[in-house]
Amino acid sequence: MFNSLSDRLTATFKNLRGKGRLSEADVDATVREIRRALLDADVAVPVVREFTAKVRERALGAEVNEALNPAQQIVKIVNEELVAILGGETRRINLAKNPPTVIMLAGLQGAGKTTLAGKLSKWLKAQGHSPLLVAADLQRPNAVKQLQVNGERAGVPVFAPHPGVSSEFESATGDPVAVARAGVAEAKSKLHDVVIVDTAGRLGIDAELMKQAADIRAAINPDEVLFVIDAMIGQDAVTTAQAFNEGVNFTGVVLSKLDGDARGGAALSVASITGKPVMFASTGESLDDFELFHPDRMASRILD
Ligand code: GDP
Repeated sequence: MFNSLSDRLTATFKNLRGKGRLSEADVDATVREIRRALLDADVAVPVVREFTAKVRERALGAEVNEALNPAQQIVKIVNEELVAILGGETRRINLAKNPPTVIMLAGLQGAGKTTLAGKLSKWLKAQGHSPLLVAADLQRPNAVKQLQVNGERAGVPVFAPHPGVSSEFESATGDPVAVARAGVAEAKSKLHDVVIVDTAGRLGIDAELMKQAADIRAAINPDEVLFVIDAMIGQDAVTTAQAFNEGVNFTGVVLSKLDGDARGGAALSVASITGKPVMFASTGESLDDFELFHPDRMASRILD
């Protein structure tokens, strides 16, 4: 019936103008609407609970501002809190003082890692970097090929295990940790200033996968570990993000498939549960469908 949270709250407050301070009952009615809006946006239940408690506390203490009606005032509080959880400012890639900058990608199978590898490499190249892609996803039969196709589209070379091509790297074939290590060595020797390592995912979280990712992390000591998560994942965002955070201690989040219907609640769930910033948004299948993540824009989308 009402499209945005702002509309919903305006309706909740239609009899409220002119009060000096919001009553507890007014605030509670509002918090119910906020809870509904966040759950509609697929924000995880425990995150919604914590978030609404914080908003409630702030709203109860707030003087009613002359310039804003009560609905606007609470929307302002909600918006500020959302932006704060999502990381405030847009967070940039942490570039290594001594190149190459090593970026490792992690996430479930189908999350969009291989696609992201192509997008990120193209984006970095356009900024004057000289990236190398490394195909350390040896789980999915097609993953190496898919990365090679993306690399070709992006105009970025791909380091992949090729039996027989080079005796030096032959030993790396079949062992993702060895491929990742050899890929970083290749980047150094060919003077690439950024190396992006694609790793395997599974359909669900499993101990073997997490150990492999952790072993790769330990072997290549990345400057960034980007956790790629499908924006459509909904309530599963929390368990997935927690498992990867414990397994690989990622440094940033990439939200993929934001071109779909998802309102982006997963962004809030992951950022809130792990305290890690969302850095990029992936918004389609083409390599150009990629942008820096803007917490303020996402806050509006979640509230919409
Ligand atoms: P990986 O298993 O994590 O490497 O995932 P892939 O990169 O292979 O992506 C899985 C599927 O999702 C592929 O069909 C991609 O084309 C698609 N995909 C990846 N990112 C996006 C995105 O941002 N939007 C949409 N619509 N599709 C995407």
